[in-house]
Parts: sequence; C-alpha cells; structure tokens
Amino acid sequence: MSHLILIVEDEQDLLHTLDYSLRKAGHRTRLAGTGMAALEHATQEPLPDLVVLDLMLPDMEGTEVCRRLRGFPATRKMPVLMLTAKGEEGDRVGGFESGADDYMVKPFSVRELLLRINAILRRSGQPATAPASAVFGNLRVDPAGQKAWVEERDAGLTHLEFRLLNYLLERRGRVQTRDVLLKEVWGGAADVQSRTVDVHVNRLREKLGSAGAFIETLRGAGYRFRAQPGRGAAS
Ligand code: CA
Repeated sequence: MSHLILIVEDEQDLLHTLDYSLRKAGHRTRLAGTGMAALEHATQEPLPDLVVLDLMLPDMEGTEVCRRLRGFPATRKMPVLMLTAKGEEGDRVGGFESGADDYMVKPFSVRELLLRINAILRRSGQPATAPASAVFGNLRVDPAGQKAWVEERDAGLTHLEFRLLNYLLERRGRVQTRDVLLKEVWGGAADVQSRTVDVHVNRLREKLGSAGAFIETLRGAGYRFRAQPGRGAAS
C-alpha cells in the first residue's frame, strides 16, 4: 500500500535522497525545507500518512513543529518520525515529549528508515484523521476500525476494499474516474491497471450485497457513490 509521506529536511542532499528512496519504495512524497512549510504541507488534503521531521530547521525546531501538529485536530494523530543529529540525547527525549512516534539518529541507513516508517504505518494502521462512523441507508462505515456493516452484518472488507469504499462514500454524488481511483486508492502504483479498479469494485459490490447498488457505474466515465440512499437499495 502506498502512503503519502511528508519529508521535512533543510539539508537539500538529504531531502532529495529521502524523496528518491521513499518514492522508489512505492510511497508518494511531499517536501518541505522549513517548519512553516511543514505545517502548511501537513494540513493540505490529502493529509500525509506520516511525517519524517528533521529536528534542526532554519525557522523553528522540529519539536515545535511536532507540538503544533499535535495541536490541530486534523493532524493530532499524524505519525511523526523525528531525525536528530548524533549525540543530541536531550533532544531525542524532547522529540518524544513533543509527541514524535519514533526517531532516528543521523547518519542513518535509508533501509532502516524505510523499515521504521513501515512499522509506524502498520502500528497506526489507519488514516491519520479518521472521522467518526458514518451511516448511509443500510450501510455503516467505521473509518477508524476500517470496517463496514450492511444491516449490521460485517461485510468483511479487505484494507483495499475499505479504502475504495470510503473514498467513494466520502465523495458521494460525484463521479470518480478510474485514473483518479488508481491514483488516490492504489497510490498510482505503476503495476496496477485500470481494469483492476473494475475487478475490485465488482468484488466490493458483491461483499456489500444490497448496499452494493449504492456504487453506480457510469459507462465511459467511472464510478459514483449515490448522493442519497434512495429507495430499493436497503431492501
Ligand atoms: Ca537540519
């Protein structure tokens, strides 16, 4: 699964190394060289799934960036991996006090950084800003638990199917093209074909049973989650 990672680092060489390595590992990236830019990028939709945050930035300390992220409702639970320079023992502790999820001491191996990032993402296991559960006709969706129920029956969705459902549901009434779904739900992975979208939508519909009709196919355009539950679908 591809994630959106915000990289905050003022050393250009390191910034580009991290950018290259994370993208090569299949993630999408957003880059910032200052604390202010980091706060701006962290609150832009779609929200990053994780922030790699350098401790020493030109305008403010990483710990301050972290503290401010913890202060906004939208970024309160966004995972943060702090980068510190060797021997800044006190700063490491400060990083955790400000709410960082993990830290790495420079110089570090990029491979280990990727492993740590994956571990944090696994632990968080959900979008950083999961809204409360939503009800639509006979369908109930819990973004935090990544589960969906139809008539109180667990639909047994996979992580991907849930993401697909939630993406469509959050944008109900609006057509989503296959290209947009590939980019936003699959993260634009190069080996995924647009036919894959059809296969997964069909499987998702099957699992949703009667609520599957909420997902409409618009020939030649894409998919749309109904704006209103309407009649018939809940029967
Ligand atoms: Ca720095």
